[in-house]
Amino acid sequence: MQSSPYANLRRKIVIILAATAILPVLLLSAINYMEFERTFTAEAQNPLRATVSKSKNSLELFMAERSSTISLIASAFSYEDLADVRTLQRIFFVMQKEFSGFVDLGLINEQGALVNYVGPHRELLGIDYSGQEWFHKVRFQNRFVSEVFRGFRLFPHVVIAAQHVTERGDRWIVRATIDTAQFMKSMSIAHFEPDSDIFLLNRKGVLQSDSLFYGKTLEQCPVPVPVQSYETRVVNTSDHNGRPILLSYCYLAGSDFVLVAVKQNVNPFQSWFMLRTDILLILCVSILAIYTVAARTVGTLIARLQESDKEREQAMLQMEHSQKLSSIGRLAAGVAHEINNPLAIINEKAGLLCDILEMEQAFPRREQFDSNLKAISNAVARCRDITHRMLGFARRMDVKIEELDVNAVLSETLLFLEKEAQHRSIVIIQELADGLPKIACDRGQLQQVFLNVLNNALAAVDDGGETRIRSALHGKDAVAISIADNGVGMDEETKKHIFEPFFTTKKEKGTGLGMSIIYGIVKRHGGEIQVDSAMGKGTTITIILPAGHLPAGA
Ligand code: ADP
Ligand code: MG
Repeated sequence: MQSSPYANLRRKIVIILAATAILPVLLLSAINYMEFERTFTAEAQNPLRATVSKSKNSLELFMAERSSTISLIASAFSYEDLADVRTLQRIFFVMQKEFSGFVDLGLINEQGALVNYVGPHRELLGIDYSGQEWFHKVRFQNRFVSEVFRGFRLFPHVVIAAQHVTERGDRWIVRATIDTAQFMKSMSIAHFEPDSDIFLLNRKGVLQSDSLFYGKTLEQCPVPVPVQSYETRVVNTSDHNGRPILLSYCYLAGSDFVLVAVKQNVNPFQSWFMLRTDILLILCVSILAIYTVAARTVGTLIARLQESDKEREQAMLQMEHSQKLSSIGRLAAGVAHEINNPLAIINEKAGLLCDILEMEQAFPRREQFDSNLKAISNAVARCRDITHRMLGFARRMDVKIEELDVNAVLSETLLFLEKEAQHRSIVIIQELADGLPKIACDRGQLQQVFLNVLNNALAAVDDGGETRIRSALHGKDAVAISIADNGVGMDEETKKHIFEPFFTTKKEKGTGLGMSIIYGIVKRHGGEIQVDSAMGKGTTITIILPAGHLPAGA
């Protein structure tokens, strides 16, 4: 239906339009997408991060409090006081009351021997710690918190030790054991979601507390130790089984511990996936809508363009046609002019011959000559008629423009035809409107127009046919005269050529000049002729002439 240049244009405009509209939508969706993804990730990670941060704080506080207490005891009491069993017992009693987790308390002298002890393992009394690493560390650092270890006892514990050095250089060490499992347990109980776990590691990846997923205290944890960070971090990673986990961790200050929380069954993105689908869906619908609207609009526009192109083409064709007619007209006028002179000579000579014939009394073949001369005269008359019409077609005759009443001119013209109509019993119906505007035209030309059309109408109908003449206002400022007959009508081919000079379907009877002449006249007056005809039904010729006034004083 659509020719390819229009289709191409259409496609191009649609693509450009759609692209400019869709691009921002795409951009916006992408930004939204990323923003949402960030939010959702943060939302999934934040609880774990918060747990680790909170636990870290309490754990650090727990250790700091206890280590300070031991330090205080070491320096607040003299060696003799601490060496006294009863005093140490009293101190231990107060400590246990104030702080949870203390298992025992002991005093170690400069040489590393346990000289006093309160707690469940009194058999340790007198044991020598000088070979142990922590003993050397505390001698250098004054304070020491160990990793979790079993040592001489049978349960995992942490040792907190503090050394006091007097002004005289005497030194002793107070050492307490803390059951961290207790603490971690309270932390795990407080912990959050079902598929998550919180535990302590040392820097070698050995579990310092029981883990729900990765083993008991002092076993090697299969999840590798994360890179050092004293701030809580969350990473999406996978465990030794390749399962995705969310891992949050933090290195504890002042000890070798790393606090780790793990969340298994990481599918925190359930709602994110749904939202993502929504975003994609909205995007798709938007793109579709934009494309449809663009395609529709452009389609309508292109259709209009195509229509107006077609109209222009038609107008061009029409112009070409009228130009052709006018040039043929000029040619015909020239020919007519040229032929008029020889015709006059022929006529004159024929007249002369006639005169000679009349003067000659005894002419043997007078009859024959007479009839031949008459034939010559007739032919000349016919030729003159034709040239006369041809000149009319090209407006080579004198014209006098007047303001004319169309109805009056129509009635005058009808007078010429009354006889023929009566003779052939053709009904002529007149429907003439009153008060029509005047038309500025030459009377003879206007008569010619009506006469030619009426002549054709009468020629088209059979005897007893009907011709209807109508005049009416056309628009605001024009008059339409239509002459309708119920005669033979025209085929398409005839309609196409009707205004061409010498086009006739009437063989010798027609000249083919009638319609071409009136075409010239009507066009010159700024009017137009409409032809409406159907084979066997009849023809309506409508002549539209604009109202016209003579310039004042003309
Ligand atoms: P002519 O009448 O000499 O043939 P015209 O120019 O007047 O030449 O008309 C050209 C042709 O147009 C006619 O031969 C006829 O075929 C056709 N024609 C004009 N008017 C009518 C009509 N009213 N009904 C049918 N055919 C018509
Ligand atoms: Mg005619």
